[in-house]
Amino acid sequence: MMIPYECHVCGVVDEAKFVYAGPHIKQLCNACGKYVKFFNKALIPDVKEIKLSIWGIKKDVETIEQAKKECGFVDGLTGLDEKIQYWRLYLYMRSADYENA
Ligand SMILES: [Zn+2]
Repeated sequence: MMIPYECHVCGVVDEAKFVYAGPHIKQLCNACGKYVKFFNKALIPDVKEIKLSIWGIKKDVETIEQAKKECGFVDGLTGLDEKIQYWRLYLYMRSADYENA
């Protein structure tokens, strides 16, 4: 896992979703959806790094394109929006039985 956390509500150890909270970014538990903590934007991995992790889950362009459709991936974003979009795809592919499939 790239950024593990332990949820103080449900106790899961996982990676959290990133969502906007005004000008800030907060993490929500990937299992129960509860607030985890505010997160320093500068520490969110680069798109390149997230793409590498996605590639680590499934080295298949067609599967990745399919996963994009399934999770409502938005293409053409830049900067932080793009990072958050790819992070969503990464979490989706981790959770949707793509791993080692
Ligand atoms: Zn939780």
